[in-house]
Amino acid sequence: MLGLTRSAAAPTSQSCRQCGALQPNGAVTFCRRCGIPYGSAPSVEAHLPSCPICYVTVDDAGLLASLAGSSRRLPIADHLVEHERHPVGDDEWLDTLRVGDRIRVGDGWAPFDLVRRYLVTGLVDAGRGRRVQHDAIIMAMSQVARWGTGDIDVFADQDDWRAARLAVTRLMERYHRNRN
Ligand SMILES: [Zn+2]
Ligand SMILES: [Zn+2]
Repeated sequence: MLGLTRSAAAPTSQSCRQCGALQPNGAVTFCRRCGIPYGSAPSVEAHLPSCPICYVTVDDAGLLASLAGSSRRLPIADHLVEHERHPVGDDEWLDTLRVGDRIRVGDGWAPFDLVRRYLVTGLVDAGRGRRVQHDAIIMAMSQVARWGTGDIDVFADQDDWRAARLAVTRLMERYHRNRN
């Protein structure tokens, strides 16, 4: 994990561009975890962090686009603070469907992280050795991601697969309903 704190950062505070950690005080100039100065670009060998909310990875300078409509680029800690005013979807509602690390979608269940990533990015990352062939919800997400919702009824398959695609489509629409 990145050890990020979402709300503690004032927009002007320095943070590590490699791991997102905030500078504890002005006397500490290097991130202890990464060994680079606060406010400088990540080392070239570093595994660059991604935003845990919108999944965008920082650029080589350790910066992400501002969500506030300007062309500024921000350290990940400041970008996270912006998400409080610029959410990617209705995560409060999504959490009501969550039980542990699973989420209920229609009549089925799927891994919460995988579903949320799909809702935000439109992509299904079903790798990592999961046995996904028999999971109706993940299959439905893969089909909707690949073919969209318009042509989804061309599949002459079982009713429960069709129902799963409908449930996934409704989840996507509801999650983004209040998007600003
Ligand atoms: Zn760091
Ligand atoms: Zn983000």
